[in-house]
Amino acid sequence: MIDVSDLIQYLYCPRKVYFIKVMGIKLKKPKMEFGKELHDKLRIKCDGDIIYNLYLESESYGIRGVVDAVIKENDNYYPVDAKFTRFNKLFYSWKMQLTAYAVLIEENFDVTIRKGYIYFIDEKKLEEIEIAPEDKKALREIVKKVETIINEEKIPNVEKSRKCEYCEMKKLC
Ligand code: SF4
Repeated sequence: MIDVSDLIQYLYCPRKVYFIKVMGIKLKKPKMEFGKELHDKLRIKCDGDIIYNLYLESESYGIRGVVDAVIKENDNYYPVDAKFTRFNKLFYSWKMQLTAYAVLIEENFDVTIRKGYIYFIDEKKLEEIEIAPEDKKALREIVKKVETIINEEKIPNVEKSRKCEYCEMKKLC
């Protein structure tokens, strides 16, 4: 199964998937402290249950991941992803990450999800994000591309860019 984090790495640069999944390079994951603040924010937003750090798998998409939080209000479920970032614009990869969490919840709880939330830890801001059927379709395409890199074990051709300056793989690449 493909980890949701691999999809995010792919959207940063397909080569990162090659280094991580084919060559086995491990990335250090920063530990994020957001528990109480996120809980307080979500409590203002909803009356329902909140499940934290929920591990889920999807057979249909072939992905797995841990959702930071899932809001359950009556029969509606909403994924929440917490971000520690200095950027306050919405990146496509973040939307795809939320979409991945949405399909994981859909498959495991037999529901349809049309929106989720990103929690900006620094700003203590919760932003609602629409998740459309086209996003779920786009996610399937991304999963296929990641699977191809892993199965073919060939380093993808990419153009170097400014992203390389911030990339953990730049010494290897
Ligand atoms: S250094 Fe640049 S080309 Fe290499 S993996 Fe990172 S972003 Fe991609």
